[in-house]
Amino acid sequence: MADNMGMMTGMAEESIQVHVSPQKRFTVQCPQCKNARTYHLDELGQNPKNPFPHPCPCGKTSQVWINYRKAHRKEVNLIGSFVITTDPKSFRRPCTVMDISQAGMRVGTELVKTLQKGDDLVVTFILNDKAKTKLELRSAVRQVFPDKKGGLILGLEFINLNPHQQQVLGFYMMT
Ligand SMILES: [Zn+2]
Repeated sequence: MADNMGMMTGMAEESIQVHVSPQKRFTVQCPQCKNARTYHLDELGQNPKNPFPHPCPCGKTSQVWINYRKAHRKEVNLIGSFVITTDPKSFRRPCTVMDISQAGMRVGTELVKTLQKGDDLVVTFILNDKAKTKLELRSAVRQVFPDKKGGLILGLEFINLNPHQQQVLGFYMMT
């Protein structure tokens, strides 16, 4: 909110959308002088501000929105836990995040007989990024499969990620 206010009161800064390549690069072209500058995501540090200001040598500063790839899915092995928010008697259970995308994730857990498609969960886990970011993500259960060891594999879809969570996941997908 504070950022939006800043942009509104700032001097008519133009905003530019960029798409990050699989090589983690993107190019910003100044709308005033057409001078182009290529960035590598690593230059911007961990979880960069989105949008971030791009000052051009000509004196114009543009706000650059970074778009990360959406469909990408990353295989991981992260320990976490979850509660079923649609079941008032539910207690916290351990789980393993097996893969993750910006839209959802696949999670393995023990057999929970009451768990079914359509339930809502809050899954808590810590990313293996440099900042060891802790995430608590509200998710809907879209698929439930038995695994080979008598447990369950859950296909989850995120619900209402906030801008910070979207930003953290978008950056994590690129690393
Ligand atoms: Zn310029």
